Amino acid sequence: MTLKILPYGIRLTEGRNSRAAVDMRGIATYVPRVVHVPLSDPERTRLVVSEGDEVYLGSLLAEPLHPHAVGVYASVSGRITAIGPQETPEGELTCVTVENNRRSRPAPGLPRRFRLGGADIAQSMDSSEIRTLMRDCGAVRMDGYPRPLHPDFDPATHKRPIEYVLIDACESEPYVSCVHAQLRENAIQAVSAARLLARAAGRAIPVLCLPDDRPASIQALRIAVEGTDVRISILKSIYPLGGEQTLVRAALGTEIPAGGTAGDVGALVVAASTAFALHDAAKAGMPFLRRVVTVGGRIADPANVWVPIGTPVGELVAFCGGMLDLSDRLVAGGPITGREAGTGEMPVTASTSAVLALPSPVEPETPCIRCGACVRACPERLLPYQIDDALLHDQAERLRSLHPEICTGCGACSYVCPAKRRLAPRIHDAAGGIR
Ligand code: SF4
Ligand code: SF4
Repeated sequence: MTLKILPYGIRLTEGRNSRAAVDMRGIATYVPRVVHVPLSDPERTRLVVSEGDEVYLGSLLAEPLHPHAVGVYASVSGRITAIGPQETPEGELTCVTVENNRRSRPAPGLPRRFRLGGADIAQSMDSSEIRTLMRDCGAVRMDGYPRPLHPDFDPATHKRPIEYVLIDACESEPYVSCVHAQLRENAIQAVSAARLLARAAGRAIPVLCLPDDRPASIQALRIAVEGTDVRISILKSIYPLGGEQTLVRAALGTEIPAGGTAGDVGALVVAASTAFALHDAAKAGMPFLRRVVTVGGRIADPANVWVPIGTPVGELVAFCGGMLDLSDRLVAGGPITGREAGTGEMPVTASTSAVLALPSPVEPETPCIRCGACVRACPERLLPYQIDDALLHDQAERLRSLHPEICTGCGACSYVCPAKRRLAPRIHDAAGGIR
């Protein structure tokens, strides 16, 4: 285990103390009054319920229509009171609103008995069985847009065998600590989850990647990996640290070719929250129904909380004692990449790692002073100020030559800019137009 240091990124101090305070507590559980379960893949799923229907915990709400889609399941039991568009952290999506009757009765046929061999799930299933499990339990990636997990583990998807599965436990944004709360509480489960994913990829080596400023998690994992094939890669804590390109570069010392994926270099990168959720679903014999969310920032009683998917962020904030200052804004996700939650009805989705109360930004944008801070911060070695300038002057050819499509939307450039330029959202939007 050697410490890997990346030559870019930013050191964050804001939110570190608050995060540590949340970290040291156990994980609470919240039962919401209502959930708005989002349908994140509307093209490839079809609703099978209507308003007024009664559903059980784990009832199918939308069935998959494509081999690369997964079903959507009710995260609480109760009556469907509405089906319609709603703002979510991933944009406007159709949501199924279920009024919770708090009976938590599982749907008929659940829990489903998977072929589990005691504590060591990975040894009791072969790779195709684990891929079937991923599909049947509705497993989605819990970082970025929630897209199905099982297609990435299909050997036909990759040009070469997968040698490494990197479990991304970097969680480098301020305040967010949901993954490390789970790692600290259940390091043995993290190791088992890493082995489950490595087995799903064939005979890959599982590598847990985490930053050096998480001593409690590192210590717990060091003990848990003893006698297993799981490796630990410790990375110098900077922002941004997670994500496919960054982790492959840091943990394996290789570059993903432009326009390629980690699979092109024989690796798969999976967020630790996804690994935990898959393991949880396999053990319980239930679909993906819940996640841990950090409720923090300027909140009366910050905490990490287990919540059903679809829980309104406002209910969650009230559960944690409410906002300390009502003029703050609520953000779903981290403070750098998260999305303003607007009304408290915005639901927690599979990818919502945090719900934060943060001061409203008041500083206006000013002209670029060519300080170069954004260039030094960018993990993709882009020239954010030049891309911004090309956008400002509508220079399409110059813009293309600067490759904004490589931008991951990490937000580091905006964060460091002394002129308060909103570089990241503009560059990320421009990238969408070029891809
Ligand atoms: S948001 Fe895009 S341009 Fe800005 S630092 Fe991150 S990758 Fe670079
Ligand atoms: S950090 Fe801001 S001011 Fe400095 S070069 Fe980049 S855009 Fe310009």
